[in-house]
Amino acid sequence: MQKSARKQADFILALDQGTTSSRAILFDRDGKVAGRGQEEVTPLFPSPGHVEQDPNQLWLTTLSSTRKAIDAVGAAPREISAIGLTNQRETTIIWDRHTGVPVTNAVVWQSRITSPECARLKALGHEPLIREKTGLVLDPYFSATKISWILDQSPALRQRAENGDLCFGTVDSFLLWRLTAGQVHATDVTNASRTLLWNLHEGAWDQELLKIFRVPQAMLPEVKPSSGLFGMTDRKWFGEELPITGIAGDQQAATFGQQCFTPGLVKNTYGTGCFVVMNTGSSIVPSKYGLLATAGWKMSGQTTFALEGAIFAAGAVIQWLRDGLQIIQQASDSEQLASRVSDNGGVYLVPAFVGLGAPYWDAEARGAIYGLTRGATKEHVCRAALESIVLQTRDVVESMTCDSGLSIPELRVDGGATANNLLMQMQADILGIPVQRPQILETTALGAAYLAGLASGFWPQLADLSHHWHVDRVFEPRISVDHRETWYAGWKKAIERTRS
Ligand code: ADP
Repeated sequence: MQKSARKQADFILALDQGTTSSRAILFDRDGKVAGRGQEEVTPLFPSPGHVEQDPNQLWLTTLSSTRKAIDAVGAAPREISAIGLTNQRETTIIWDRHTGVPVTNAVVWQSRITSPECARLKALGHEPLIREKTGLVLDPYFSATKISWILDQSPALRQRAENGDLCFGTVDSFLLWRLTAGQVHATDVTNASRTLLWNLHEGAWDQELLKIFRVPQAMLPEVKPSSGLFGMTDRKWFGEELPITGIAGDQQAATFGQQCFTPGLVKNTYGTGCFVVMNTGSSIVPSKYGLLATAGWKMSGQTTFALEGAIFAAGAVIQWLRDGLQIIQQASDSEQLASRVSDNGGVYLVPAFVGLGAPYWDAEARGAIYGLTRGATKEHVCRAALESIVLQTRDVVESMTCDSGLSIPELRVDGGATANNLLMQMQADILGIPVQRPQILETTALGAAYLAGLASGFWPQLADLSHHWHVDRVFEPRISVDHRETWYAGWKKAIERTRS
C-alpha cells in the first residue's frame, strides 16, 4: 500500500451497504461528513417468511452511491486515502469463482426459510456445541443454514462448491470481490463471527461446524483483521487504484464509530429494532441470558470481543401507534403526545409483536397492554409505548452487566429514534446512568472509516480519534432509585403475564 503517499489525502470513503439502502460517505480528517450518496435497495419476498435481494443491485447501488458522494465533494479519487466497508450482516451470497456471477439471489438475514433445517439440527442435539463454539444461537438468522439451503437447490451446485468453483461471502466479501475485480476473496472477523462456522475461541473456521452445516471449506473466504489491507480497487471503478483497509459488520462498525474502545462501554442503536453492543475486551463472555458473544473488531493482532442483544420491536412500536392505532401522524409526534401526561398512569405496553427476545426468548409470546383503567388515555398508551423501548433496553443492559461483571458508566446512542428527547431522558432515568447522544449519528459509516483510516495512516493512532467525539446532548438520570425500581417492577410483572 502507498501508505505515506495516501497519508496526505483529504478523505476516507466509507461504504455502508444496508438492508434498505446503499450509502457512501466521505469523511474528512476531523471525522466530519464531507459528502454523501445514497441509493435504495429492494427486498424481494418470493415466499412467506423468505427474503432475498439481488446481489447485482447491492453492487451497482454501492458503485453509484460512491460516485454521488465523490461528485458531491468534487473530490479527485487520489484525494481518498482509503476505503472502509460496512454491511448488513449474515446475508449470504454464493457466486461463481471464474465468472463472478451469483448462482442465486442473496438470502437476506431476515429470511426464515431455513427454520426447518435449524429445527432438524436442534433435534440432533447440536445446539450446545454450536453455541459454545460460535457464541451465537442456532437460528435461521445466521449464514450457515442459508449456505446449505442454496447448495441444496441442485446436486450440481453442491458439486461445484466441493470442487472450489464457487465462493461464499457475506455482503462485504462480495463487494470486496467486485471492487478488486475478482482478485480478493476475503472477509473480516466480525462478519465471519456471524456465520455459525467461525470458532470464536480459536479464531478460525471450524471443521466440525463445517461438517454439521454441510458447507465445503473450499468456498470460504480468507478471514482478515477488521483494520488492515484487504486489497486495491480495480482502476476501472474510480479511475485509480484505492486501498480497501477496513471492514466490519454494521453493528460492530457502529460500536467502533461510537468509540466504545474500552471494556464496559455500550452503544445502543434505536431503529426499527434496537441493537445493544458492549465491549468485553479480550474476554469471550458466554451469556446466561441468550445474548450473543461476537467479535467486535480485530486490529494490531488483537481481537476485541463484544456482547450483543437485539430488541425486535423498538421504533416498530412507534410505527404501530401511527399505522395501527393511528393516534399519531408521524413518529416524532409521539414525543409531544406522551409529554401531555407526567407518567404512564399504570399502563404498560409489552410489544411482543414477534415474540420476546433477550433475555426472555419466547417466540410464542404476543403483545399486550396492561393496567388499563377508566382514566387511561391515548397519551398513556403512547407513553407506555415509548417506555417499552427503554424498559427493553434496561432488560438487555442488565443482562450484560450480569453476564460480564462489568459496570456500565454510560450509554452511547444513535439511530432514528434518538431524535426523541423524552425517550432519551426516560432511558437515562430507567438505567440510572447518563445517556450520551453524539453530534454525528452516522456512526456505522464512521466506524468503517475509522478502521480504514487507522490502517492507511490517515489517522496515526486510536487516541487521535478522541477529539472527534462531540456530544450533542447528555441526558442525566433525574428520578430516585425508589421511583426507578417501582417503575421497572411494573414492567417485570407485565412481562411475566405476557409470556406464553
Ligand atoms: P432503520 O434503520 O431501522 O430503518 P432508523 O434509524 O431510520 O431505523 O429509525 C427509524 C425508526 O425510528 C422508525 O421505526 C421510527 O418509528 C422511529 N422514530 C423516528 N423518529 C422518532 C421519534 N422522534 N420518536 C420515536 N421514534 C422515532
